[in-house]
Amino acid sequence: MTDGGAPHTTTRRDEAVRSAVEQGLVGPGTPIIGLLDVAGIREGAAALRAAFDAVTAPGTPVLHAFAVKAAPLVPVLRLLRTEGIGAEVASPGELALARAAGVRADHTVLDSPAKTPAELREALALGIAVNADNPQELARIDALVASAPTRSPLGLRVNPQVGGGSIGALSTATPTSKFGVALRDEGAREWVVRAYRERPWLTRLHAHSGSQGMPLGLMARGIEETYALAEEVNARLGRRQIDTVDIGGGLPVNFTSDEQTPTYAAYARLLAERVPGLFDGRYGLVTEFGRSLLAKHGTVLARVEYTKSSGGRRIAVTHAGVQIAARTVYAPDAWPLRIAAYDAKGLPKSGPEVAQDVAGPACFAGDLLAENRSLPPLDQGDYAAALDTGAYYFAHHYAYNSLARPAVYGFAGGVAGGGRGVRFALVRAAQTVEEIVAESGGAQVDALTNALTNGV
Ligand SMILES: *Cc1c(COP(=O)(O)O)cnc(C)c1O
Repeated sequence: MTDGGAPHTTTRRDEAVRSAVEQGLVGPGTPIIGLLDVAGIREGAAALRAAFDAVTAPGTPVLHAFAVKAAPLVPVLRLLRTEGIGAEVASPGELALARAAGVRADHTVLDSPAKTPAELREALALGIAVNADNPQELARIDALVASAPTRSPLGLRVNPQVGGGSIGALSTATPTSKFGVALRDEGAREWVVRAYRERPWLTRLHAHSGSQGMPLGLMARGIEETYALAEEVNARLGRRQIDTVDIGGGLPVNFTSDEQTPTYAAYARLLAERVPGLFDGRYGLVTEFGRSLLAKHGTVLARVEYTKSSGGRRIAVTHAGVQIAARTVYAPDAWPLRIAAYDAKGLPKSGPEVAQDVAGPACFAGDLLAENRSLPPLDQGDYAAALDTGAYYFAHHYAYNSLARPAVYGFAGGVAGGGRGVRFALVRAAQTVEEIVAESGGAQVDALTNALTNGV
């Protein structure tokens, strides 16, 4: 047994799949659902807290703010809230979700790169933390701070420009990244020091160096650079004005097995080794993990509608494709997903593996969850489970072919070997066909025929 907890994860998932089939949550009429392992999410949150508790001086204020974009579901945010986890939001929608979940203002951080004046005004009125992305945004905050008092802790996002990871689109610390103040650009450090000198209320420093694909060492370098900047600003100002460093998220997830590696504990230990001054109690800490908190605890379960063979290749046509896994379908090399095969009763399939394509329902040839993958042969009526999909997958619907958003259920309970003790709770209902019509201009049916030609 490792601290990754893989055997439990696998058993719980197998039990949940079997129970979901037995209880009819998934079947011929409902061919795709999302599943969330509540115990797994709780364990992940506890592991995150414990990892940073173990390396921070007693009494250090630490806020773990979950990056809402990784799983924008109100019950998930509420579950994390009960585990002491706050919310990192980046849009009016995400802020509304955090508020609907009851996340406290002082446990909420707003980070978007394109905050409007209205968003900033609301954030400062609510007292949520805001990290300014750039000089123009800071000027807007200047005006708001001057016009009304605020409890919001205010910070500045910097880009330490330590370089990118293996996935360009997710690397935020490249020389030309769109995020934050580019620290190595000419004059930037001086500008930053001046920005703090002129604004005694600017008390936080923020960096998020990237997400999946960033090596831990490079993430640590980004935080080293950020800490060094905080020390420089405070030293040059002769006061401890920066009192909190927000180190962002970005812990990569292992998409190749049920093992949870790297662990939060390993990352926290590495940071404490590399940047000891950040953990000695002089700075409060904010973290913004997303993917690593949820990915391993979600599963997409999709029924095999048909099987066929084409050019000698076996193909299972399922109901999970680009609508739930846009990144995997469009960039399969960067975002491979593990697929597990279950039979029509929801029991794990075994037996000799054969190469097959696991296809989705969308009308384009590239709509494949997995290509040429070795799996026990999937048959009509079986289920294909896309694993590690709790973050950035089923919550990020892509409306290709007007395919409906699937329902998401949380599960708990169950005892090894049985499966009948598993209890499910609806987290988000499936989108209905009526909703699809309504969201697609159903009420404006005559907009282009009558209103423009006859009217006004
Ligand atoms: C996306 C994002 C995160 C979360 O990243 P993960 O890789 O999901 O942990 C945290 N902070 C900011 C500013 C982000 O944009």
